[in-house]
Amino acid sequence: MAGIWGTLKSKSGAVSIVLSGGYEDDIDDGDEIIYTGKGGQDPKTKKQVADQEMKEQNEALARNMNTGYPVRVIRGYQGDSKHSPSSGYRYDGLFRVEDVFWNKGIAGFQMLRFKLVQLADQDAGETKSGSEAPSGQKKPKRKKGSTVRIIRDTALSRWVKKQNDYICQFCEERLETPTGPYAEGAHIKQLGMHHKGPDVKENILCLCPNCHLLFDRGALGVSSEGVLIGQAAPEPQRFILTDRHSVSEKYLKYHRETHRLHDPSSTTPGARGN
Ligand SMILES: [Zn+2]
Repeated sequence: MAGIWGTLKSKSGAVSIVLSGGYEDDIDDGDEIIYTGKGGQDPKTKKQVADQEMKEQNEALARNMNTGYPVRVIRGYQGDSKHSPSSGYRYDGLFRVEDVFWNKGIAGFQMLRFKLVQLADQDAGETKSGSEAPSGQKKPKRKKGSTVRIIRDTALSRWVKKQNDYICQFCEERLETPTGPYAEGAHIKQLGMHHKGPDVKENILCLCPNCHLLFDRGALGVSSEGVLIGQAAPEPQRFILTDRHSVSEKYLKYHRETHRLHDPSSTTPGARGN
C-alpha cells in the first residue's frame, strides 16, 4: 500500500498520506499523528529489513514542513480503531507536518517519523495545488492552506530568556526590536505525544529564530562537549553559551539521536550516528 502520495517534482511537498496500520509504531491520537515514513521493508514479507532513507516520498513529506503546505490525511479501516472508519477509507482533513525525526523501530532499524497536527478549521482553506504562477497579489488575501510556526512564550521560557539576557546560546546574537529584545525558548527534547520531553529549564535553550529553526530541523546540534555540530555548524567550532543557565546533556543526546547527528566527542568505537 502506497502510504505517501507525492513526488519530489512537487515543490510544495506531498499531497496526501494514508493511515492504515502498516506500522506498529504509528501513533494516532486523532488530531495528532506520529506517522512512519516508507521504505526498508521486504516487499514479500513486509518485514523491516533495512534503515529507511530521507528520499523520494519521505523527502516530499518532509518538504511540507518547510513549505507550510498541509497534507491530506486518509484513514483506512485497518488503523487505530478509535479514530479510523469501521470499513473502507475516509478523508479526514488537512494536517501540517510539524516535526520529522529518526528513531529505532521495533526491528532495530532507523525509522523516519513525521509528526502531523490537524489544522483548525479556519486555517484549513482548500489548497491550490495547480500550476499557478507565483506572482504577488495587490490585495493579499489571507494565504490559505499554509501554516506558520507558533512559538509559545511560557513563564519558564521567559525565565530562560531573561537569564540569558535574550542572547542566543548558539550564535550569541541579541535581536533588538522596538518592543524590546526578542529570543525564543527552544525545547531540546520536544514536549508532546512522542518525545515526552519535560518542561524544565535544563531542557530549554535561549535561541534566536534562525538557530531555533536549524536546531529543530537537525541542521544544528550540540556535542557532548558542548560544541555546535551539524551541517549549519560554524567553522571554526564554537561552544554554546552556558555560563548563564545550564542545559542537560541527556536531552542534547536525545536530540542528536533523533536527528542522527554524529557526536565527534563520542568515544564509542565505530559510532557513526547511523
Ligand atoms: Zn542564533
